[in-house]
Amino acid sequence: MKRLLSLILFLLPFSVLAQEPSFDQYFTDATLRLDYVFCGNSAEQSIYLQSMTRTGDWAGRRKHLAEPLLKGNGQIRVLEPRTGKVLYANSFSTLFQEWQATPEADEVNRAFENCFQVPFPKAPVEIEISLTDIHNIPCAMLTHTVRPDDILIRQQQDNGNQCKELAWGGSLEGAIDIVILSEGYTSSQKRKFFSDAARARDALFAHEPFASRKGEFTIRAVFAPSQESGPSQPGKGEWNNTAVGSHFDTFYSDRYLTTSSMQKVYDAIGNVPFEHVIILVNTPVYGGGGIYNSVTIMGSDHSTFRPVLVHEFGHAFGGLADEYAYDSEGNDCIYPADTEPWEPNITTLVYFESKWADLLPEGTPVPTPVDPIERQQDVRRIWSSLGPEAKASLNLKLGVYEGAGYQMQGVYRPVQECRMRINECEEFCPVCVRAINAMIDYYTK
Ligand SMILES: [Zn+2]
Repeated sequence: MKRLLSLILFLLPFSVLAQEPSFDQYFTDATLRLDYVFCGNSAEQSIYLQSMTRTGDWAGRRKHLAEPLLKGNGQIRVLEPRTGKVLYANSFSTLFQEWQATPEADEVNRAFENCFQVPFPKAPVEIEISLTDIHNIPCAMLTHTVRPDDILIRQQQDNGNQCKELAWGGSLEGAIDIVILSEGYTSSQKRKFFSDAARARDALFAHEPFASRKGEFTIRAVFAPSQESGPSQPGKGEWNNTAVGSHFDTFYSDRYLTTSSMQKVYDAIGNVPFEHVIILVNTPVYGGGGIYNSVTIMGSDHSTFRPVLVHEFGHAFGGLADEYAYDSEGNDCIYPADTEPWEPNITTLVYFESKWADLLPEGTPVPTPVDPIERQQDVRRIWSSLGPEAKASLNLKLGVYEGAGYQMQGVYRPVQECRMRINECEEFCPVCVRAINAMIDYYTK
């Protein structure tokens, strides 16, 4: 028996034995919330620690602790000080980095709040947080020590916000925990919020692969009352007093609904265990956004609520890129030609083998010519008149189609139409489905 065990240990990949830290050895069943400020301009960036909070039970992964599934545009790592061993790591993207690509970032330095959760350490640890540039090269880093007995680690207080469970995926250890937070709902609109949150859950679970795997998700809705109804609309001169300060016109783009008050968001949901946040904003106006491992934010009452919510959650949960392109100048520097993007559903062909090359039917030309029907504007207009076969062909026929990631040239997508490309197409493409499934497995297996 002993010999068999040692043989098994020998056969296990060395990396598994060497790298995979045990949760219980290093962490206690609690959460350390770390608040940072990312600041800079289009040319430089720096990171500052603002505060630390101990919150409730740890809802995140207890396996695959040291390796993020995707690289993201930044990473946070917990290190053992003596050995430098990685005890926990996660990746993310940020609103700050999106802002760095705007013209305003050439003119002024600005600061953005960011909050992260890591498991609460049993002994002093080093936290290393870094941002990477569009070439996937680290461009800012902060390392600091956290001592678990530090008296200035704030204790999360009861915020009084009501929580309702909308879906149950099992224990915190096994399930993927999502919280849906109210924004722009007054006290008298509490019932509407819980009803809207249930619609959000239903929208998510109506789409594959979430439909098949809904038993692995726990969804809780948290009601944080706002003083006024609806988000701010600066373009119309309307500023409202709301729970987490959301507003349209982010970066002067009228449809871009976000909040820069991430600390308010984390304060509002601090009594609830979670891994992903959906901020549901009480408005009929079209708008929303999704940032990988940061936040999904979504207006509640527009007719496109269901597909857009799922699209944005595709960004925030699955790390999926937009598969659409703009026929205009000025977007040519987001995915440079010499760098393979980390997002699983687009490629610059620098390292296509790491993407969906294994799924491509033999003999598929690269790049793949699009069907005559496929011209972005046209296909959106005529989508509802297409038959199921034509729709399926556009959604399922794998290739390497040029035009994705906001760029008409040099960035390629897996299919002609996908949930990550146009609102009219309900379904994710096979590559996006595989990527989401891989992420669900990463959390739960
Ligand atoms: Zn796709």
